[in-house]
Amino acid sequence: MARKRSVVVAGGGIGGLAAAAGMAARGLDVTVVERAGHIGGGGSGLVIYPNGVRAAEALSPRIGARLREVGHITRPDEVRVLMSADGAVLAEEAIGTAADDLGVPQIPVLRSRLHRMLLDEASSAGAAIRLATTVTDYTTHPGHVTVRLSDGATVDCDALIGADGIHSAVRARMLDDGPPTYRGYTSVRGRTTGSALGQRGYVVNGRGIQLFVAPVGEDTLYWTAKITAPAGTWPAKGAAGARLALLDALEGWFGPVVALVRDADPEEVVVTDIHDRDPAPRWVDGRVALLGDAAHPMVPALGQGANMALEDAAVLADALASDATVSGALAAYARERVDRAGAVVLASRRQGALDQGSDRDGEERRNARFKSAGRKDAETADVLAWRPGPRRPERATAPPAIVRTNRGDTPMGAPRIVVISGSLRQGSTCDRVAAWCADRSAEQGASVRVFTGAEIDFPAYRPGLADTHAAVAGFLGELRAAHGVILVSPTYHATVSGLLKNALDYVNDIGGPVPYLEGRAIGTVAVGAGAQGAVSTLTTLRTIGHALRGWPTPVGVAVAAAPAEPAADGSDLDPDAARLVEMVSQVVWLGGARAATGRPAVLGAVAA
Ligand SMILES: Cc1cc2nc3c(=O)[nH]c(=O)nc-3n(C[C@H](O)[C@H](O)[C@H](O)COP(=O)(O)OP(=O)(O)OC[C@H]3O[C@@H](n4cnc5c(N)ncnc54)[C@H](O)[C@@H]3O)c2cc1C
Repeated sequence: MARKRSVVVAGGGIGGLAAAAGMAARGLDVTVVERAGHIGGGGSGLVIYPNGVRAAEALSPRIGARLREVGHITRPDEVRVLMSADGAVLAEEAIGTAADDLGVPQIPVLRSRLHRMLLDEASSAGAAIRLATTVTDYTTHPGHVTVRLSDGATVDCDALIGADGIHSAVRARMLDDGPPTYRGYTSVRGRTTGSALGQRGYVVNGRGIQLFVAPVGEDTLYWTAKITAPAGTWPAKGAAGARLALLDALEGWFGPVVALVRDADPEEVVVTDIHDRDPAPRWVDGRVALLGDAAHPMVPALGQGANMALEDAAVLADALASDATVSGALAAYARERVDRAGAVVLASRRQGALDQGSDRDGEERRNARFKSAGRKDAETADVLAWRPGPRRPERATAPPAIVRTNRGDTPMGAPRIVVISGSLRQGSTCDRVAAWCADRSAEQGASVRVFTGAEIDFPAYRPGLADTHAAVAGFLGELRAAHGVILVSPTYHATVSGLLKNALDYVNDIGGPVPYLEGRAIGTVAVGAGAQGAVSTLTTLRTIGHALRGWPTPVGVAVAAAPAEPAADGSDLDPDAARLVEMVSQVVWLGGARAATGRPAVLGAVAA
């Protein structure tokens, strides 16, 4: 019988235990090493959103079912009330209906119950749990990784997963990127039974304080107050002192909200300064991978940290249980997760800054926004709509390049156009829009090379690195030979995808008498549902185009989906398709002029 693949998980938090349960259920030999002497005490609550519920179900149907048992299943008619500090209702979030639309409910849950359930699932699936032990270091070897522990022991295994939280030792060893960044507010949280607020959720908004409240069943509410403050001031008060200071800060607030904090069990109160990190482009070092807060710590404004850890765990468990090599499986895991988690980190940071309302203007802006448009961006719908994808086989070699040969004529030369998709998820809307633009370019007489997100998943840019990577060198070669470039980026972080930006950073290394993309036509496309995100993504793409000395075309296009194939005679184009065709025509025309003369077209006046 084949030997079981052995995996050490550093950290028995929500992410580590979920991954351990998923991997053990798939037959892997798993050991969790946890620093604490006990798992599952304290803390307040978490909301597991539809994406997290789907991830729990993907880990195992049993975990999905048990999550429903330990949490409060949001009722179809349930709303979360957004109110100002004096109790005036600003808006209501229809969380029941929203969950209904996505096919699964939100499930707020006490953190301790979720933690104990995952511990139970991991243990009963066969994972070993080693408590009161810290992972201090690791060394990778060709066939295994050696994990060093605080008790002096070493463990050899096939893979190490760093699920050791925001101050991860595994991350420090892998990325050495310093401490996380304080985001200007602290969190004081607890739970209260028998509140006059009843079993429903609230977001109560004062100046520099926002209180989030959610029901967790059995007449209990958990609550989190986020308070604008200099780093360190609230943790220094201790749990009991912080609860009293919070009561002072809530003076004059809506009575039942004050009572919620007053009646909380002081022993259960937790105080934490809120930090995050910029998205990291790399989470894998051969046989070692990061997961959860170790990989992508985020502020809690969208309540997605644990949900993302569950998604990571589901993707990782499937990847490591596949036939892929260990390093291939971990690379596939990172390819699927890095871009998405990075987007959620940045969206959470933006929501957190809005939520705090830390001065009079900020407070008024936030309350007005909540009244008119609700609390969260429409774009966060993308976050909640996640589903586990079908597993992709390991790629032994690079995927076949998508190439379109010219199928029409340009009045000038036949230009070479490079289309780049900025989404890591294969077959994503971004990839489909890129392929659509490639088809239209070819119809107009161009030869086209499409780079999908998976093909530009390069290491983080450093000058000189291009020479050491064949894939990067191939990418730069295509760009050097191109007469025009079309950049297609997802918008969900309201900026360009980190993946695309990283790949374009390598353009700095294009040499020659005239460097960069001098004079090439650059078309820009933002793919996503939110108009505001699209505008800032297009602006950033144009800025990058200018910085690379290309010529961004006048038409930048925002679309939510790839348009249908146009009719053969080009009639009946919908407005999105028509705008894309206009942009493609400009790139092909300007590219054709450059191909014909070997020089950029001089147009007299170019609206750019
Ligand atoms: C105020 C607040 C509210 C939040 N609300 C939500 C919410 O509503 N929804 C949501 O999804 N998320 C929420 N989160 C985020 C969520 O709590 C975290 O993202 C999640 O717990 C991360 O899980 P993890 O397993 O990656 O890390 P952790 O839960 O931090 O677990 C890490 C574990 O590793 C152990 N450890 C550390 N170092 C080592 C080492 N070297 N060796 C061995 N063990 C080690 C630690 O003891 C710990 O048990 C919130 C966070 C905060 C602060």
